[in-house]
Amino acid sequence: MNREEISLIEEHIRKKINAVKLDCAAMPAGRVAFSGDGVIKVDGLRDAKYGELLDVSGQTQAIVLGLYENEVDAIVLGEEDKASAGMIVKATGRIVEVPVGKKLLGRVVNPLGVPIDGMGELKGVRRRPIEAPAPEIADRGKVDTPLQTGILAIDSMVPIGRGQRELIIGDRQTGKTSIAVDTIINQKGKGVLCVYVAIGQKASNVSALVHTLSQYGAMDYTVIVCSTAKDSAPLQYIAPYSGCAIAEEFMYAGKDVLVVYDDLSKHAVAYRAMSLLLKRPPGREAYPGDIFYLHSRLLERAAKLSPEKGGGSVTALPIVETMAGDISAYVPTNIISITDGQIYLESDLFNAGIRPAVNVGLSVSRVGSAAQISGMKKVSGKLRLDLSQYRELAVFAQFGSDLDENTTARLEQGKRVTEALKQEVHVTLPVEHQIVLLYVTVKELLKNVPVKSIGAFNAEFLKYLDAAYPSVRESVRETGNLSMDAGLTIEDAVTEFGKIYFKE
Ligand code: ATP
Ligand code: MG
Repeated sequence: MNREEISLIEEHIRKKINAVKLDCAAMPAGRVAFSGDGVIKVDGLRDAKYGELLDVSGQTQAIVLGLYENEVDAIVLGEEDKASAGMIVKATGRIVEVPVGKKLLGRVVNPLGVPIDGMGELKGVRRRPIEAPAPEIADRGKVDTPLQTGILAIDSMVPIGRGQRELIIGDRQTGKTSIAVDTIINQKGKGVLCVYVAIGQKASNVSALVHTLSQYGAMDYTVIVCSTAKDSAPLQYIAPYSGCAIAEEFMYAGKDVLVVYDDLSKHAVAYRAMSLLLKRPPGREAYPGDIFYLHSRLLERAAKLSPEKGGGSVTALPIVETMAGDISAYVPTNIISITDGQIYLESDLFNAGIRPAVNVGLSVSRVGSAAQISGMKKVSGKLRLDLSQYRELAVFAQFGSDLDENTTARLEQGKRVTEALKQEVHVTLPVEHQIVLLYVTVKELLKNVPVKSIGAFNAEFLKYLDAAYPSVRESVRETGNLSMDAGLTIEDAVTEFGKIYFKE
């Protein structure tokens, strides 16, 4: 072979080599190196981003939760055993999206937005990423409209404004869910859409809740996002973000929305399970270091938008379960510091029959009073005072029997206020009725009513007042205030009604 021939062959080979296209960069792909308990570790995936959705051999999907030099950690959505070592993993460039919009109202969906109520598929719906940045400060408006829960003790002393985040905290079985459900029921006809997110709950509880909401006609304006205790940790983990995305879609369309996260303790536990599987260093109570961010980025998305941005709002009611009343545990303190206040429910009160079991001393609302209507503000100040005096005196009264007249009067009044604030579950009160009841209570017009009859007396009295003096309710509704005249009418009406009621 002479030189010429060699260079010809050389050129031929070079041409062939150049013709080969290496297009592995076009489709970033890797391989599952480890799979177990809903967690996968992927080798060779170079361009993945945090939170990105991965496609696992077309079998299932996963979300990136950890980026390392040679490895990407991800959590598998859906069935855990669909992913196994050796499968090809591709980055999709998207993040998880859920269906949003009006068609979801009245539906029960899983955290991926797939209906689980047997009422058919969702067709022709928009989708929205489950993670989104919270509205900027400049885009936010003032919290100035009340979100009525219909619960006397809360609307009067721990008022909630639209766009606020108010934590409901308490031990197990203290009525936390009931408060949230009653609040949803009370939004009927008020133009507030509701999203209820169940995280790691028993399926039977969720189905009972859906039944209750339908019974009260509340499903028409409510979406249920449901992850049960049976679902994998990753599904439970994304549930509140999905619910938030559904709520946000309505908010940006100018609507007022209420979203309930029931509950974030279970959410934190699901995240801890995932983190431990991903071998992240455990910190306090074995939670990972970013547990605060888990909830702060969720709750920051609750907002009241400025009028220029449409004026919509998302009000968040996260629920947290405590152990033996310990609100200084890790997750409760975190969430208390993120929210604008808390409704603290107590087992002791609940068991003593004081329901809703709101501990007024430990419950606050940092922005809600700005949104309270003036008629309510007028009567609620004295209410707090009556109750706090009562609590203080009740402690001392246990020791001695000879109490002076004033102390006895304060104690009697405290008992009556406590009784008047009791409320059955699912019996919500419109704000006009609340103002009337508080007025008769703080003006001490119930002195002659035996403490144990106060509940029944009040309920009957409201009916009487509405029938005999409808103007009171109307004037409160129109002006948002309780005029002097209306006050006097109520006083007369109580006296009149007292005579009728006790003669019977
Ligand atoms: P869990 O810790 O299991 O989630 P929870 O704190 O959410 O419980 P609920 O499920 O709301 O509590 O209520 C527990 C029970 O107390 C229910 O049977 C409910 O009907 C009852 N209950 C709640 N609030 C009241 C109330 N105001 N009056 C009477 N019963 C009530
Ligand atoms: Mg509950």
